Amino acid sequence: MDVLISGAGVAGTALAYWLRHHGFTPTVVERAPRLRAGGGVVSLRGEALDVLDRMALLERVQELNTRPGGAACADRRGSPYHLEILRADLIGPLYEATRQEVEYVSGDSIASVEQDPAGVRVTFERGRPRRFHLVAGADGLHSRTRSLAFGPCERFIRHLGMYTATFSLPGRLRLPGSDRLHGMPGKAADILSIRDNAKAYAALHFASGPLAYDRDDVAQHKRIVAGQFAGEGGPIPLLLEEMSRAQDFFFDANAQVEMHHWFSGRVVLLGDAGYCAARTSGLGASQALIGAYILAGELAVAGGEHPAAFAAYEQEMRGFVAEHQQIGREGADRFFMGMPAQEAPGMIAAGTRETARTHLVRLKDYAPSFAARWPP
Ligand SMILES: Cc1cc2nc3c(=O)[nH]c(=O)nc-3n(C[C@H](O)[C@H](O)[C@H](O)COP(=O)(O)OP(=O)(O)OC[C@H]3O[C@@H](n4cnc5c(N)ncnc54)[C@H](O)[C@@H]3O)c2cc1C
Repeated sequence: MDVLISGAGVAGTALAYWLRHHGFTPTVVERAPRLRAGGGVVSLRGEALDVLDRMALLERVQELNTRPGGAACADRRGSPYHLEILRADLIGPLYEATRQEVEYVSGDSIASVEQDPAGVRVTFERGRPRRFHLVAGADGLHSRTRSLAFGPCERFIRHLGMYTATFSLPGRLRLPGSDRLHGMPGKAADILSIRDNAKAYAALHFASGPLAYDRDDVAQHKRIVAGQFAGEGGPIPLLLEEMSRAQDFFFDANAQVEMHHWFSGRVVLLGDAGYCAARTSGLGASQALIGAYILAGELAVAGGEHPAAFAAYEQEMRGFVAEHQQIGREGADRFFMGMPAQEAPGMIAAGTRETARTHLVRLKDYAPSFAARWPP
């Protein structure tokens, strides 16, 4: 059973892994010419770590924890725990775990999807048209799949009034420890130094309503950020200089995706494409990992019967996605009150304001039984 996945981010690579595990044949199409492994720090809540454990990737990820010693509680299965990792350190292992058995097509994008009772005909911007049984949109906040199958972006995106840019800094800068470095009304700069200052990442946040810009024009994004911070003192001029050179620059709105349903016929959404909780939730990567695990598992259990599988996937996910989105909104409020947009990771791990409020999702054990039953 052929499944096209649009987007090779956290959700797309993880879904490819789990679909393959259950006997499906996934193909991943990624718009960028190569894997987009940039970005700053993403956090992972307990069940996401459980998913990584089931993929035999947990040990590796734990070693790359950016706050060693500060993040893990003892009992992985029982009590919630949490760690932080660079997005690149998560994407790399996910891709490595799938690339031998999954077809990856880079530098292309879905152009149209046409559903019929037997499958989906997909045309691409560059490649020839192909047919698939199902299509999964894992193509992020501005999902093309969502626009094609559900409607225009504006219908589903709720803007939370701020933008964030992230980029790496050379270790030689020796900026102070970590966290909030510089706060200004409606703006903030965070620095995270990791691995004994060998690496550092900057995040620049500013308040703004929706801006019109070309999402592919990185030079324009850098100009927008530089304009917002022009004239600020302290470390800002130095950060802007480093930003102008940064190769791994990432810029996007702090926004959420709100949808009544994450599937339409044979097309289903996951990760930020379907239920982005906003950067200020810090939980996008966790949602992507858990969503991929549950979606593939429910498809396997349903023997590929997508209507039942998609409905079950939605039911399993809805509760904690709503909680994550609440955390995302509160994170944005904290920014406007001049506080760090995300909870300090130490607090999450130790006292656990977030984890106390988010109910645990008990991951089901989905036996890899689908392959034996297909074709029906
Ligand atoms: C380069 C990058 C850096 C990031 N940095 C941070 C960060 O510092 N902090 C943070 O909290 N979150 C960051 N994020 C977002 C974070 O990765 C997600 O919130 C979370 O991991 C959920 O993952 P996702 O797979 O749903 O979406 P994403 O990780 O955004 O992945 C979506 C993927 O789909 C691809 N794509 C987009 N459009 C198309 C298309 N039309 N056709 C095919 N492929 C397409 C993208 O290139 C990307 O590879 C970043 C995302 C990216 C892409």
